[in-house]
Amino acid sequence: MPPDATRNLLDKVWDAHAVRELPSGQTQLFIGLHLIHEVTSPQAFAMLREMELPVRFPERTFATVDHIIPTRSQKRPLADELAEQMLQALERNTADSGITFFGPSSGHQGVVHVIGPELGLTQPGMTIACGDSHTSTHGAFGSMAFGIGTSQVRDVLATQCLAMARPRVRRIDVTGKLAGGVYAKDVILAIIRQLGVEGGVGFAYEYAGPVIDAMTIEERLTVCNMSIEGGARCGYVNPDAVTVDYLRGRPYSPRGAAFDRAAKYWLSLASGPAASYDDRVELDGNALAPSVTWGINPGQSVGVDERLPVPSAVPDGERAALEEAYAFMQLEPGTPIAGTKVDVTFIGSCTNGRISDLREAARVARTGKVASGVKALVVPGSQEVAKQAEEEGLDEVFRAAGFEWRKPGCSMCLAMNPDKLVGPQICASSSNRNFKGRQGSPTGRTLLMSPAMVAAAALAGAVTDVREVL
Ligand code: SF4
Repeated sequence: MPPDATRNLLDKVWDAHAVRELPSGQTQLFIGLHLIHEVTSPQAFAMLREMELPVRFPERTFATVDHIIPTRSQKRPLADELAEQMLQALERNTADSGITFFGPSSGHQGVVHVIGPELGLTQPGMTIACGDSHTSTHGAFGSMAFGIGTSQVRDVLATQCLAMARPRVRRIDVTGKLAGGVYAKDVILAIIRQLGVEGGVGFAYEYAGPVIDAMTIEERLTVCNMSIEGGARCGYVNPDAVTVDYLRGRPYSPRGAAFDRAAKYWLSLASGPAASYDDRVELDGNALAPSVTWGINPGQSVGVDERLPVPSAVPDGERAALEEAYAFMQLEPGTPIAGTKVDVTFIGSCTNGRISDLREAARVARTGKVASGVKALVVPGSQEVAKQAEEEGLDEVFRAAGFEWRKPGCSMCLAMNPDKLVGPQICASSSNRNFKGRQGSPTGRTLLMSPAMVAAAALAGAVTDVREVL
C-alpha cells in the first residue's frame, strides 16, 4: 500500500508546512495565506512598527473591510467617524506594507471568508490564518484554516509562521441524502447538537460521507464555517472534482498547465482510503430536518418539527445550561419551536451570505410578503455576490416581497455597524452565533437557521417549516 494511503489530509498538509518542532511541543508552521480585516489588524501593525519589523510576505497577505462597514451606504467618508478611521487605518497599513486591499471601491470587498474563496485565494493544501474565529470556513477546499488572535496576527505579519499544537482528527461521516428544504446549515447545526459546543476541543473535523460529497463548495463552506462553534480548531473537506471545478478560472487560481499541475497536487492531498483517525462519528443525513437554535449557543437547537427541551427531563449536568438559556430567551419549555414569533430576520454573514444562499432564500421570498411589523434584511456576503444577485434579479425579488436589500458586510451577524437589534427583539438569522447580545442589543435574542428558513420566518412573522413553503 502506498504510504499516502494511510495518511489523512491534516497530516499531509501539516507536515508540508512544519518548519520545526518547538521546545514547547508545538510546531512552527508556515502560513501560506494570511487574510486580514480592519478589526484585529491595527494593533498588530502598531506592534510591528514598535519593533521596527516589516511585513515578511506582503504578497501572501490580503485585506478587506467587513465588520464595521455600513450596509445602507458605503459612500466615503463613512457616516460613522470611528468606522471611517478604522477603514483609513487599514488603507494606510496595507499601502505602507505593499498588501493588496479589497476596499469598498475594488469591486471585491466583502466578508473576509466570502472573498477568499470566490477570488481563488483559498486553495487546497494551504495553511491559512486570519484574525477571526470563523477562518475555519476555508477548510471547505481541503486547507488547514485557523482563526487567530491579534498577537498571532502580529506574528504572522512579521514571520509568516505560527506556533501551533497539532490537533487530533475526528472524521465525521454524514450518510444518506438530505431531503428538500434541508441544507448544509442544518447538517452542521445537527453535528454541533450531537457532539456539543465543546465536543471538538483539540480536534480538527474532517467532514465526509455521501452528503458532504454531494455538496457544492458553497455548502461545504457553510459546514466548515461553524466547525469552531463545535469547539474544533478547524474543519475540512477533502479536495475532489467539485473543488477543482470551483477553482478553475478564479482570479487567483493558477492558469493553463500550472492549473492542471496544481489540480493533480490538490487531489493527492485527500485522506487516503486507509487513513487513520483519532475518532470517528456518523450522522444520518436522511433523518435531518431543518434546524433552529432556541438557546444561547449553537448546540442548543431542535428540528423545526420538535418541541423545546424540558429542563427537568435532561440529565443533572445539562440542566443548568438549559435554565440559563431559558432565563435569557424567555421561551417556554416543551412548546413547539415552530410558531415562535420573530421581530427581525437577517440573511447574510460568512456562513450563509453566498449566491446559492440568496437563491434559495429568494425562492421562498417569491411565495409571499414579509409579515407586517417584521424588519427583514438581506446582506450579500460580498460585492461579487451582490453583483451576481442583481444580475439575476434577486434584489428585485427580495424588494418586491418587502425585504431590505443592503450592501455587503458582516452586518447584523455581529452588529459592529449600525445594523443592530433593539431591546429584546427576536431575530431569525442565517449567521453562526446566538450568544447573548451577539446582534447588538444586550437583551436581543437570536434563532439560527438556514437562509431559506429565515426567509420563511420573515414571511410568516414566526418560525415556520420551510418544507411547507417550497
Ligand atoms: S460575518 Fe460574522 S462571523 Fe463572519 S466574519 Fe463577519 S462577524 Fe465574523
